[in-house]
Amino acid sequence: MRADIIDGKAFAASLRRRIAAAVPGFVAKAGRAPGLAVVLVGEDPASAVYVRSKGKATREAGMESIEHRLPATARQEELLDLIESLNRDEHVDGILVQLPLPPHMDEAAVIAAISPAKDVDGFHVVNAGRLAVGQPGFVPCTPLGCIMLLKDRLGDLSGLEAVVIGRSNIVGKPMAQLLLAENCTVTIAHSRTRDLAGVVRRADIVVAAVGRPEMVKGDWLKPGATVIDVGINRVAGEAGKSRLVGDVDFAEAEAVAGAITPVPGGVGPMTIAVLLRNTLVAAHRRSGFAAPA
Ligand code: NDP
Repeated sequence: MRADIIDGKAFAASLRRRIAAAVPGFVAKAGRAPGLAVVLVGEDPASAVYVRSKGKATREAGMESIEHRLPATARQEELLDLIESLNRDEHVDGILVQLPLPPHMDEAAVIAAISPAKDVDGFHVVNAGRLAVGQPGFVPCTPLGCIMLLKDRLGDLSGLEAVVIGRSNIVGKPMAQLLLAENCTVTIAHSRTRDLAGVVRRADIVVAAVGRPEMVKGDWLKPGATVIDVGINRVAGEAGKSRLVGDVDFAEAEAVAGAITPVPGGVGPMTIAVLLRNTLVAAHRRSGFAAPA
């Protein structure tokens, strides 16, 4: 038996089409397009690529992309002042500060400065708290994308055993909260977990968000499990080239799992699509309109 491939790229493309189709309705009511402000501090090449692709996707969805760049030497006060002006700007519905920030800046303080109503990344403690207590807020894009893929594949997740490997604030913890809200029995594993393979073997759903290339092996999986691989790891490939792999050994897992996301083309494309979705929702909420489903 070969696992079905969960095509995150196709799902993300259809989500982006649905968002683009909903934008003109907002524009007709609000008299303006939803706006997403992205702030990049410094010259990190990977961050610059992410910011460019977020801007392009925002414009393709018919929304306004507002990009701000500060030098790596900028003082934290300058960044906080910029965030404050974006908080006040009526045309800005979502604010995203591209991480990581230069080492002299306090990431937690910067995230705390973003208005929770515009925190489309869902990183603000108010939004993390809302997720934990089941109130509507903003959920981090990557785990929300994972839950969309899982529900599309499995339908009702109620009662399923889910194991999330990784407990970061941006992926592992919100992922566990989302699975709990779907009535899964959730285990969060991390670097101190004993007998990780044994823990993973119980799972109907495995979400790997570790950052270790191909760590999860085929014989760790329960046959038929649904595997969501969040990891993005660059490793040496053939002829001196590099290639991307996930946290799951895909070739091994494919022979055991019921369904699996590939890397690339699985979770990755969902992140930007969900960012656009969160921005559209923020725009509706701020204007007092019912948010689209
Ligand atoms: P972090 O480094 O913040 O967290 C990694 C987690 O993995 C930690 O909780 C850590 O445990 C745990 N861990 C580390 N080693 C082991 C181990 N040997 N066994 C079990 N658990 C372990 O990473 P992120 O959550 O930010 O990202 C995880 C991966 O997802 C990365 O590859 C990243 O590139 C990718 N990613 C992909 C995105 C996408 O769009 N597809 C978006 C965001 C991230 P502990 O807490 O004990 O240290």
